[in-house]
Amino acid sequence: MTQEKIEFQAEVAKVLDIVIHSLYSDKEIFLRELISNGADACEKLRYTGLTHPELVGKNGEFRLTITPDKKAGSLTITDNGIGMNHDDLVNHLGTIARSGSAEFFKSLSGDKQKDMALIGQFGVGFYASFMVADKVRVRTRKAGDEKGWVWESEGAGSYTIEEDKDAPNGTSVILYLKKDEKEFLDTFRLRHLIKQYSDFVPFPIYLTEDKKEEKINAGSALWTRPKSEITPAQYKDFYQSVSKAFDEPWETLHLHVEGVIDYTALMFIPTEPPHTLFQPDKPTNVSLYVNQVFISNDIPDIMPYWLRFMTGVIDTKDLPLNVSREMLQQTPVLTKIKQGLTKKILSALAKRAEKTEEYAHFWKGFGAVLKEGLYEPSENREEVAKLCRFYSTHDANLTTLDEYIGRMPKEQEKIYFITGNDLDILRHHPQLESFAARGVEVLLLTDPIDEFWTNTYPEYAGKRFCAIQHAGSELDKLKTKKPQGEMLAKDKLDKLIAKTKEVLDKQVQSVESGEQLVSSPMALTTGMGQMSLHMERLMRAHGQKTAFESTRILQINPRHPLIHKLADMEKPDDYIKLLFDQTLVAEGEPLPDAADFARRLTDLMLRG
Ligand code: ADP
Repeated sequence: MTQEKIEFQAEVAKVLDIVIHSLYSDKEIFLRELISNGADACEKLRYTGLTHPELVGKNGEFRLTITPDKKAGSLTITDNGIGMNHDDLVNHLGTIARSGSAEFFKSLSGDKQKDMALIGQFGVGFYASFMVADKVRVRTRKAGDEKGWVWESEGAGSYTIEEDKDAPNGTSVILYLKKDEKEFLDTFRLRHLIKQYSDFVPFPIYLTEDKKEEKINAGSALWTRPKSEITPAQYKDFYQSVSKAFDEPWETLHLHVEGVIDYTALMFIPTEPPHTLFQPDKPTNVSLYVNQVFISNDIPDIMPYWLRFMTGVIDTKDLPLNVSREMLQQTPVLTKIKQGLTKKILSALAKRAEKTEEYAHFWKGFGAVLKEGLYEPSENREEVAKLCRFYSTHDANLTTLDEYIGRMPKEQEKIYFITGNDLDILRHHPQLESFAARGVEVLLLTDPIDEFWTNTYPEYAGKRFCAIQHAGSELDKLKTKKPQGEMLAKDKLDKLIAKTKEVLDKQVQSVESGEQLVSSPMALTTGMGQMSLHMERLMRAHGQKTAFESTRILQINPRHPLIHKLADMEKPDDYIKLLFDQTLVAEGEPLPDAADFARRLTDLMLRG
């Protein structure tokens, strides 16, 4: 039989034009597409063989072979799968015969950018060969057929088909690489690409070099197997290979979800937090697979940012293999998977949280990240809040918000908190005294993120969050213990306030009476709606200029004996300065002039 020359279907010609000129930015993915086709072909024959074992015959193991030939400048991808007959070649490699393709072509706009996103939704994997090859030859024999065929094309306009007596069972795709694409003959590069993109393709992939064969891929997608068949050691190995870490998984979630969207997920929570947990631009550790073929491990929004410690694999059949980046960012499929998975992760955490000590370990490593989930409104905010743990003035242990609320005196309406960076300093903070005196518990928040979510998350279980410096007269409703001691007379107090402001000048915005103070003579605070002092420190630590000194307010305790003494002094300046410095220390602020502080202290002791 002689050679036939056949025109590509008009649509194929169009696709080829787009593929060759603009489809993929990463040309290397042609290999993944061809491997995936080969694996599909094996899958099909394996399936057919269930009812027609004679077709599989002496085939032996299903396998793929990648053979670079430097002399010929060609790369061959061979499989021993189902193969194609004459009509298959015409129908599959010369036509686009997918339902819906008519609409697709109607919607092609000519705008390359838009068309690229569209085309990603259609099966055009084979044509990706023409990104790297100027000629493609396919030798193939369909399982059970006498005749074999060779298909050949240069991608422009037409292809040829001819009988090929020596065609092996299955299919060999031979790419004659373009001059600039010879890197794909390099075995080192090929090995890397196979590992990266096709490690879990469920058939062995061999790379041939100097007639020697080497199996490259792991060869099985662990996550597709039933849980009961997987040992803890296998889970651990897999975890370590995806996370590139050396610890054990703290939690393993293996889910086969069927519903509107089908997906399988094998996700882990590490035992130890990775160093990169707080690096904003590090890639995710979650790999997306479509039908066991690797797509990407760098999909920006695949997990909520407050679950960024999750690592593992998501595999779905509901996306096309050659999905584009643009499409990944828009597809509702990933959004649905993310939503579903988020719920599962949260309920797994809730379960682990029942074991207080175990959970405390998790919280130490990852709590600051999980808490970021409180920052923005989301359907999961309440769940996240339930999973959060806080130190408080109640005791040395972590508490939940529910436990805090359970301990609230009847008249208390709000959840009080204070922020800072050192737990010990916070525990002894002067501003806490009046709360202690009234038996009101205060949450001690020491993570940078606490400054942020406390500003955007208004309330939990109907109780508003309130920074202690913003607590007002509502505290007086709490009849419990009130501060003791005689108040300084109003005229004396006013005089001392004026004097203090004069002495401290620009170091504070204003000076006022702090009637809620108990054992400290002075305390610092900021006004309603102002940044807290801790927030100011955080911003300064990040090199931001803040109007710090102009926003802080100094409170004077009108019941404190030292303040009574100060009010009676003729020249209290040095004492005011000294007390102010001491207040800065209690707040965790650096002293503006430590030497000056020391000198004043020594002077006073000598006078004393
Ligand atoms: P898709 O794989 O998404 O269907 P392709 O353009 O990659 O799109 O392939 C088109 C069709 O060609 C496949 O569906 C399959 O029927 C056939 N085909 C491609 N490669 C092979 C192969 N190695 N063995 C058998 N059939 C193949």
